[in-house]
Amino acid sequence: MRKVSVFGATGSIGQNTIDLIDRDPAAYEVVALSGGRNIAQLAEDAKRLRAQVAVTAHEELLDDLRDALAGSGVEATAGAGAIEEAACRPADWVMSAIVGAAGLKPGLRALEQGATLALANKESLVTAGALIMGTAKTHGARILPVDSEHSAVFQGLVGEDFGSVERIIITASGGAFRDWSLEDMARATPEQASSHPNWNMGQRITIDSASMFNKALEVIETKEFFGCSHEMIEVLVHPESLVHALVGFRDGALMAHVGAPDMRHAIGYALHWPERRALPVERLDLAKIGQMHFRAPDPARYPALRLAHEVMEAGGLSGAAFNAAKEVALDGFIEHHIGFLEMAEVVEEVLTRLWGGACHINAEMTLDTVHQTDHIARKTARDVIAERQ
Ligand code: NAD
Ligand code: MG
Repeated sequence: MRKVSVFGATGSIGQNTIDLIDRDPAAYEVVALSGGRNIAQLAEDAKRLRAQVAVTAHEELLDDLRDALAGSGVEATAGAGAIEEAACRPADWVMSAIVGAAGLKPGLRALEQGATLALANKESLVTAGALIMGTAKTHGARILPVDSEHSAVFQGLVGEDFGSVERIIITASGGAFRDWSLEDMARATPEQASSHPNWNMGQRITIDSASMFNKALEVIETKEFFGCSHEMIEVLVHPESLVHALVGFRDGALMAHVGAPDMRHAIGYALHWPERRALPVERLDLAKIGQMHFRAPDPARYPALRLAHEVMEAGGLSGAAFNAAKEVALDGFIEHHIGFLEMAEVVEEVLTRLWGGACHINAEMTLDTVHQTDHIARKTARDVIAERQ
């Protein structure tokens, strides 16, 4: 039996992971499940899967979790420290699917135990790529990408020499506003930005898809995970979300990964790797689909992509600043303090101020310097938003 843990178990990726585990429960021993405020879901899954421990991120909900687990034999714990502790428990395979910078520490802890880390939490690579890749190397642990684009690239590279790769193209659906004018985007509400045409995901990543901040994070994630130069990475708008990524080789060949927009594919590939096992995903009928469309992203409507390249060029701790500023700007938009297009303006202003000397962006990357940068960038972003009120 494989020992598995799922962090962010109550979220969209977490629930899809549990769906796959549920289909073959005898194959897995569940060590830890973590969640947030959805105690009922967390407790139900932990009891059914006979987890060792269930952890809520919120200490004030510990009693509720204990009540929900009473008599089940599943341990209940709470708080960020408890999530870290759970990540230190021996497991063969750990899903990192907490959203945001909070996913970094548990991922690092799991790697330190030598676990295989299925990485959905792209923020880990964006904020602390060198740290997370270095920790994996030091402890002989493996990281498997779960973002659909990165899983697609990973699959496109099987058996290939990375030295023969010329370019990596990740696709973007264009999100909720792909056919909207700039004027309409300026007036867009969080509710409008929260509905995705193709993928069913958590609210934050759905809004990030509409602004292409998600794609900007993924471009940085690509650079950090595959260790390529940022000039090799391209973004292609593909409204159907069927081609997830393409790898371009020096002989001109493009290897495309084509599949239904269902995260259980990337999750299942990481769960069963290096084998391919049957997955409950739709089989595409290309004759019926008939056409697929591709176009270049409009830089005027998606400034986040330009910012990603500036961040990669600046390097150091810039990714941590970028992600933190983006998270605060996203909160500002969700809470109606700033407009949709202002998110990129806020992030750009934060980067300008930090690169201007408010922070040692080129300091050595440690958990401490990443947290300091995250903290300064969040504070600066809140200041920038307040100045706009
Ligand atoms: P979600 O919002 O649906 O779920 C997030 C999970 O994290 C929940 O279990 C929540 O309780 C937990 N969580 C939130 N804040 C936390 C905190 N501060 N501390 C501890 N736990 C916390 O998000 P999601 O869409 O499942 O995305 C999870 C991660 O996977 C993100 O990094 C996202 O970018 C990435 N991802 C998601 C998809 C997708 O299809 N949903 C695709 C690719 C990558
Ligand atoms: Mg993705």
